[in-house]
Amino acid sequence: MKQLTEFKNLVELVVHFKSKVDCLNYLKSALWNCCEKPSACPHCGNTKKIYAYNDKHTFRCFECDKKFNVLTNTIFENTKVSLVKWFAAIWMCSSYKRGVSSVQLAKEIGVTQKTAWFMLQRLRIMFSNLAPEALEGTMCVDETYIGGKQKNKHYNKRTKGQQGRGSSEKINVFGIMETDGKVKSKAVPDVKRETLVPIIEQYAPFGSKIMSDEWFAYRGLKENYIHDVCDHGAYQYVSDTGATTNPIENYWSHVKRAVIGTYFHVSKKHINRYLAEFDYKFNTRKQTDAERFELTIANAHGRLKYSQLISNPNA
Ligand SMILES: [Zn+2]
Repeated sequence: MKQLTEFKNLVELVVHFKSKVDCLNYLKSALWNCCEKPSACPHCGNTKKIYAYNDKHTFRCFECDKKFNVLTNTIFENTKVSLVKWFAAIWMCSSYKRGVSSVQLAKEIGVTQKTAWFMLQRLRIMFSNLAPEALEGTMCVDETYIGGKQKNKHYNKRTKGQQGRGSSEKINVFGIMETDGKVKSKAVPDVKRETLVPIIEQYAPFGSKIMSDEWFAYRGLKENYIHDVCDHGAYQYVSDTGATTNPIENYWSHVKRAVIGTYFHVSKKHINRYLAEFDYKFNTRKQTDAERFELTIANAHGRLKYSQLISNPNA
């Protein structure tokens, strides 16, 4: 079997994964580390007696007496969409830097827009589960707005060339980024000190060096961190001591261009899933598209909060 890391584009992937069985076999090796039986029942965890049906893809656990296959407890569970289409969707969603909209995905793989929306939301929930739990080294922090009217924004938060465009719903977003490393971003109700500092404390160990702009919410960080400020108010983009928030500001520009260019509008309700998608792609930017595809598939298991999915494909 061709090593997946050799695939260079979507066409090569689709040519290789022609059938459901091709996909099932690949999922078994990616999720079960084998091509035959799983090591444990996904329902009860029993590792002993597992019976394989003649089709080689259906199993029954002697302990809990439930049937399962490699799709059980994964993002593919109970899906009516073929695995071939899912694989193509995963490639597109994880390799297109600016993302893929449900309208575009629907057209490319031949499903309804509503179905495409649910597929993308399942993938984004998985990306959320892969978000870093802690960051390390020197970090920069910054807050921004997504959506909202340009004229209401602080001068250094405006996005060039977007005057009068975008939605009027302003979403506050906060991010923390390692120098040349990972990022974690999320929507916040406001950009006050009591909102932002606990997030910094969640991700950055005390004693880390944190770089920020002069926003007053960051004052007081020096109590627990080495806090270095670059003063945008004084048109300073790198301070005398080397403090800069340029990396995270560049990231915001990318996210905003993607949201406006690909999705046109993202609601407050769903913004964190989109941010998880962009964070995931940023955090795996040094990998090839094929490596990122493999990583995504290998994490297709786990409990997903389907109940959180809102059945509004236009949201
Ligand atoms: Zn069982």
